[in-house]
Amino acid sequence: MSSGGVPSAAATSSSQCCGQHGSRGHSARRAPPLAIHEQEVGVADTLQLEPLTEEAFVANLQQRFKRDLIYTSAGDVLVSVNPYKKLALYSLDVVEAYRNRPILSHLPPHIFALADKAHWNLRERNEEQCVVVSGESGSGKTEAARIVLQYVTVAGSGPSGAQQDPALAPIKLIRDRLLQAGPLLEAFGNAKTHKNDNSSRFGKYLDVEFDFKGDPVGGTFTSYLLEKSRVTRQLAGERNFHIFYQLLTGADIQLLKSLKLHRNIDNYAFLRPSRPLSMETIDDKRDFQVTKKALETLGFSAEDVVQIFKVVASVLKLGNIGFTPTSNIDGTEGCTVTNDYELFEVCGLLGTNPMELTSALTQRTILAGPVLDSPSTNPAPPPPPPSCGSLRGVKSGGCSSSAAGTPPSFVPSSSMSSTASRDVYEVCEMLQHSTLARLTLADERGSTSTAGELVVADLSASEATASRDILCRALYSRLFAWLVKQVNDATRVRKYGKRKVLGILDIYGFEVFEQNGFEQFIINFCNEKLQQAVADCTLRQRQEEMLREGIEWTPVDFFNNTPVCELIEKNNHGILAVLDEESQRGGPGGDESFLARLCHTCGSSAYFETRNCAPHSAPSDLPCNTSVPPNCFRLRHYAGTVTYGVTGFVDKNNDTLPLDLSLAMFRCEHPLLKNLFPEGNPKRTTLKRAASAGTQFKISVGALMGNLQSKTPHFVRCIKPNELKQPRIFENALVQHQVRYLCLVQTIKVRKSSFAHSESYESFLHRYKMLSPHTWPSWRGSAVEGASYLLRDLPLSSPHFAFGRTRIFVRGERTVAELEEFRRQRL
Ligand code: ADP
Ligand code: MG
Repeated sequence: MSSGGVPSAAATSSSQCCGQHGSRGHSARRAPPLAIHEQEVGVADTLQLEPLTEEAFVANLQQRFKRDLIYTSAGDVLVSVNPYKKLALYSLDVVEAYRNRPILSHLPPHIFALADKAHWNLRERNEEQCVVVSGESGSGKTEAARIVLQYVTVAGSGPSGAQQDPALAPIKLIRDRLLQAGPLLEAFGNAKTHKNDNSSRFGKYLDVEFDFKGDPVGGTFTSYLLEKSRVTRQLAGERNFHIFYQLLTGADIQLLKSLKLHRNIDNYAFLRPSRPLSMETIDDKRDFQVTKKALETLGFSAEDVVQIFKVVASVLKLGNIGFTPTSNIDGTEGCTVTNDYELFEVCGLLGTNPMELTSALTQRTILAGPVLDSPSTNPAPPPPPPSCGSLRGVKSGGCSSSAAGTPPSFVPSSSMSSTASRDVYEVCEMLQHSTLARLTLADERGSTSTAGELVVADLSASEATASRDILCRALYSRLFAWLVKQVNDATRVRKYGKRKVLGILDIYGFEVFEQNGFEQFIINFCNEKLQQAVADCTLRQRQEEMLREGIEWTPVDFFNNTPVCELIEKNNHGILAVLDEESQRGGPGGDESFLARLCHTCGSSAYFETRNCAPHSAPSDLPCNTSVPPNCFRLRHYAGTVTYGVTGFVDKNNDTLPLDLSLAMFRCEHPLLKNLFPEGNPKRTTLKRAASAGTQFKISVGALMGNLQSKTPHFVRCIKPNELKQPRIFENALVQHQVRYLCLVQTIKVRKSSFAHSESYESFLHRYKMLSPHTWPSWRGSAVEGASYLLRDLPLSSPHFAFGRTRIFVRGERTVAELEEFRRQRL
């Protein structure tokens, strides 16, 4: 080991990567910047680390971190330590150095090197690639994914290529759009949390498509479960989504006026908890301009932009609507809207009338009794749907089915209360055309009846507040999903021809807060699955392959998190299945009942605990496991133990929007709302009820893992050096914890005792047969014989290969590089 200089002198001062800059031609022969050479601090490639222990590994990271060397190789994995400060590591010089590097170069580990390898494989080997970025919240995943995207979008023609050649203008456009999608989705999907001032509150996977030259021709974003509960509630010290603050601080006065907004954040109930936060790292005013620019680049019209902000403004203003309790004649509680002016303004923004919105917010239309069912098949009326008015507030009026056994027509009953009559009449009229709507109502209540009596229940003030919040979350999260769809339209491939895909995954990081709920459970499940996939590729599959192929090696143990994944996702018995059962059952006390069922179903797992059931390993006579708070369950995740409070699990999993709200939104004149609330269309024809939020997430994460496994993966493991989000602080214990659960030392051990590359004999021969007179132009013997002739004929510096049953194994990266260099010289 020797120490090198600080790598800033000759590197450009800009920390911005590639495509952000104007035209700057660079020659491949130009000397790379100093930063590229002076890397001899610690061990850059930890395959060489001696002794290979966790402590030595962490000390090495620390030594390099102190000198701003944040990237270190760990076998097949790139480790990246968040510097929490801008570094001159991503300038055009550095891009060019990695892009044009000679095959046998000794360039230090860098995220560009990883991105370049993925891009090279895509072009040269014609294999689909993916870059998987993982790590805990605030460790630098989103930054890393952004840098990879910036690199791969210029790796073909180069950073300046598209700027100079008019024929490449479409590539420049698609590159700009792909890059601008990041800031746009971050404005709407990121927020300040305790872990990260710009924390992604949604998962993001991007498939970039390339043409045969390696230039981007399009891309598709997939987003995963936005944390929509943040719209209406944030922990103290956290913020709502960035866009709210951006709009209030960045919009000009005209726009604010047209949206009926004031600059003062204090005016908005949904933003008040975050008001005292001073945000050194975020400039909302400037970021608003960035968001507007992104919208423009992505092809949103000025009219679209106004409509988007109208929805955002409506959410803010709806949050200010309060409800005053009232007493009904029958003694039950109802409510009225306290501040009519806010309601009027929301109606103006959304294009609806105050009466309709008031009814949707303060009343609930429900199917009161299954009049068509015989008492024997359905003796008791099912409980009311979750999170909506109870029958105690039922108005005496309603609609009843006209005839049993035939598609019923609903007519308003004569005893309807006067305040509700008009709305009930309208709802009934709509429902008359919609058998589906009745089925949905029945289904939401877990009823088997196909028709019943429609009644209107008044909501109490607190129920109306909950209903308002449901609407705000739905408006915002559906707007977000719509934005993703629009972005995909703008980045859709329009060029025909053969295409290759490189995926980039940036999912929300593992997180543990003082209080963890459904959102953390979902986020951590996702991380658990990702950990499983990474361990599968870097540890399990590699070892299994050597076993299968009859290669000698020393097995390496590692923490296998499959049991935790199964505990969560197993069909019928996993936590998500139990949650679904409880969600379908409906009725009060769902969360408590869910916890009791969990105890029954998962209590025997060593990874699960509640107050009333400890893991198997704990003493069986423990009467009460007091370490777990009431109403909580605890899971032993790969990255640490997390205690989840069950309050809200069932409602959040159900994720149903009361029909009154969907109908009211669908009927608004705002052009986006018909799109965002299709189930409010009385003429809709789909009868299928959507899967629960948990199940949908499980399915989409399963598909994502399948997708990643079908590609050649490249892993970036991001490490958080401190909890203070500060530069220059390296907390040893915190880093060691991450190094341990990411199994980094085991990954290196497996890599050390295995091989850099393996390939079938056929494909190896196909690629390199030109290098030997024995195999070129054609070889008639067996592929394995051909491969061994070929190797004998080559002047390799370290000809270390192993011959498996069906595959050839190449020991070192350098040998692979040498083979490629010989090939390049021949072509
Ligand atoms: P994650 O996505 O893992 O939650 P982010 O990528 O948002 O974390 O990073 C958190 C913050 O850390 C960023 O906003 C940025 O300030 C800083 N950061 C992360 N990676 C880098 C980097 N490579 N260089 C400089 N700062 C970084
Ligand atoms: Mg992130």
